[in-house]
Amino acid sequence: MTYLTPSQSNQFSVLGLPVHLLNDYPSWLADRIEQGLGCHVVTLNAEMTMQAEHSPALAHIIQNAELVIPDGAGIVLYLKLHGRHVNRCPGIELSATLLARSPQFNPPWSIFFFGGAPGVAAKAAEVWQQNAPGIAIVGTQNGYLTPDEEPAFLHRLKTLQPQIIYVGLGVPRQELWIAQHRHYCPNSIWIGVGGSFDIWAGTKTRAPKWFCDNHLEWVYRLYQEPWRWKRMSALPKFAWRSLIYRLTKRNPVIVSKF
Ligand code: UDP
Repeated sequence: MTYLTPSQSNQFSVLGLPVHLLNDYPSWLADRIEQGLGCHVVTLNAEMTMQAEHSPALAHIIQNAELVIPDGAGIVLYLKLHGRHVNRCPGIELSATLLARSPQFNPPWSIFFFGGAPGVAAKAAEVWQQNAPGIAIVGTQNGYLTPDEEPAFLHRLKTLQPQIIYVGLGVPRQELWIAQHRHYCPNSIWIGVGGSFDIWAGTKTRAPKWFCDNHLEWVYRLYQEPWRWKRMSALPKFAWRSLIYRLTKRNPVIVSKF
């Protein structure tokens, strides 16, 4: 099956991985939904870029995703270093915009929430249903399925064919899972949303706006979840790689051999 991607002229490389720079991501996705064109949306950040360096499977998925958005501050700073001034598009905000917009369509887009601890996706759906009347969240599923439970869940998804499927299993689990299973709903928009259900359900809080505006969301996350320090050691590594690439024009991430 082939899927259309944004034009090549909108695609930029961040250490060998693509980022698609569009003025209006929600409208681009709205068009695809209305046309029934499937799509995998990857929300790229510095951590994911460094993970892809060690995971050819993840790198391959990012390279083949129809839409890769600049989710992280590191990506935006990297592009700035290379003369491209773009705004961040955090995945949680893009996902929220689609949710808020969905009841305006007739019929409203059908949406599924998959991921998070038991009860979290259901709570997030309840909150959205209260705040956005007319929204059509057609199902939820926690992200801790046993291998025995997965076939029934996939059957459920296949029967429902939701137009948008949010998958919150964390990186890179959600990207690998989507790539492996998207053929069950080939016309759906699949978005890896990390811990967004936790935020919408109120079990975690997002960094205050000041942190987000000043590229410091990672500081807040580290304060909230100190166990992240090991994962976040990817950030200085990403900065170092970016600088080396800027100075030498040699791309240290080899992700093109598939
Ligand atoms: N999670 C899940 N199943 C798993 C592992 C994790 O549903 O097997 C969920 C977890 O409950 C949390 C989310 O995945 O809601 C990961 O959130 P995080 O903010 O860590 O995502 P990331 O920073 O990787 O985007």
